Amino acid sequence: MIHGLMQQQPLMISSIIEFAERWFPKVEVVSRSVEGPIHRYTYKDMGRRARQVANVMQTLGINAGDRVATLAWNGYRHLELYYGVSGSGAVLHTVNPRLFKEQLAYVINHAGDRVVFLDLTFVPLLESVADELPNVEKYVILTDREHMPETSLANVHCYEELLEAADSHYQWPTFDENAASSICYTSGTTGNPKGVVYSHRSTLIHALGSSIPNGLSLSGNDSILLVVPQFHVNSWGVSYAAPMNGCKLVLPGPAMDGASLHELMDSERCTLSLAVPTVWMMLTGFLRESGETLPHMKRVVIGGSAVPEAMIRSFETDYDVEVIHAWGMTETSPLGTLNFLMPHLRDLDYEEQMPIKLKQGKSVFGIDIRIVDDENNVLPHDGVAFGRLQARGHWVTSGYYGDENNDVVDSDGWFETGDVATIDEDGYMMITDRTKDVIKSGGEWISSIALENIAVGHPDITEAAVIAMPHPKWDERPLVVAVKNHNSNIDRESLLSYIGESVAKWQVPNDVVFVDELPHGATGKLNKLKLREDFNDYCFPDT
Ligand code: ADP
Repeated sequence: MIHGLMQQQPLMISSIIEFAERWFPKVEVVSRSVEGPIHRYTYKDMGRRARQVANVMQTLGINAGDRVATLAWNGYRHLELYYGVSGSGAVLHTVNPRLFKEQLAYVINHAGDRVVFLDLTFVPLLESVADELPNVEKYVILTDREHMPETSLANVHCYEELLEAADSHYQWPTFDENAASSICYTSGTTGNPKGVVYSHRSTLIHALGSSIPNGLSLSGNDSILLVVPQFHVNSWGVSYAAPMNGCKLVLPGPAMDGASLHELMDSERCTLSLAVPTVWMMLTGFLRESGETLPHMKRVVIGGSAVPEAMIRSFETDYDVEVIHAWGMTETSPLGTLNFLMPHLRDLDYEEQMPIKLKQGKSVFGIDIRIVDDENNVLPHDGVAFGRLQARGHWVTSGYYGDENNDVVDSDGWFETGDVATIDEDGYMMITDRTKDVIKSGGEWISSIALENIAVGHPDITEAAVIAMPHPKWDERPLVVAVKNHNSNIDRESLLSYIGESVAKWQVPNDVVFVDELPHGATGKLNKLKLREDFNDYCFPDT
């Protein structure tokens, strides 16, 4: 073997902001601030302030490898922390403020965070758990002197004052690219949240891999409204990929309602936006009511849970915006698969394309997936066989933080995703369920997701969850728990017969219960565990 003679440079997150600052100095980052006004500056400004943040790390006594937490909305200061903290060698722990209080304290303690940077919004939340955070030495409030609140938190600093006092000169250090750069905890729908630790290398490769045309197809022509939170899986990597590609970045702050998002989309001429279906539901609701349109938007990326067909149709038909359905998870950084239509499918008519668009998509280079049966036999790509979905690749986790056993991957590196899926002959993967949500009826599996998608396709249904309920004859049968639109008087029978138009008779749920709202977890997803608990005493009418 002879060695290649190319240069070896460790893949460092700081190189992204250095690049953007040098080559896209005038490209803007626009944020709706927590204080209210719209803030705008450029990658040049951001680069300078990220270096100041790195110097602030020294002021605060934060060393390489130390963990630093954030509790913050999407905004320019949070973005600066992404680079300033990780770039200095410390590890950024983006805490999801929607976690229950006990979980919030758990993740901050488990990660060993020494300093917490927080938005004004979260001061009361932190005050209420501060007593349970023995390792936290300092709190930095992400605001200026004028807006500093009265607080019972000890050792509080003002972010803008720290930055003002910090030198803007800083030489980004170069170190092992496998060093940890950030930590995100899974939302822990079962048991305690688990820490996924990303490295500089995995983060950089993920940003490259998700940028390509078969990925998010990012370019300097894009103005991205980043709705997916910076506190959830590194904002799907876009906080890294956007500066890398010279994209304008628009950060919505705490205002996630349809009107506020639309205002930014319009004023900042956003071409691309990313969010989970619940957020899009609010936006499309606003568009319907207000009669507003999306003249600049070209594509929206929807992931985190399955995209309802009605949502795809609404974006593509009513607003001429392409929907890119994506699948991933905290453990996969998150990009796993992305739905882009192959040329031979583009020739099909829209109705024939729809079943393909509903699938979660194809792998992009850098991550591989497969499905296996109960005996771990690899299943064929025929669109019919379904089994446990596994993933491996440059940005897939090999274990959880502080977990001694770290046995989440098999000897070949395949990570168990907890999802059940099919893969068709063109490589399109479709999630049919989570392993724990699938309904096992008389030896057959019924997909809860498929039934939910059909139910929300009914114009009178706002949201629906389908859960397995015990049944004396069939083991389990599906129960629909649904939220009606205001003023609708849809009843059980009409919803069941509507579902019956799209599935085999044995898959039609046994009952429907209408509720005012469904429980959601910290990442906005349906919390089926809670729902199953709520319906613990439920019995089907036919039993
Ligand atoms: P958590 O695992 O903590 O709930 P994640 O955001 O990591 O939070 O969730 C990952 C899971 O979300 C996946 O394993 C999958 O079940 C679900 N998911 C993500 N994207 C999609 C999608 N497009 N369609 C269906 N399910 C999805």
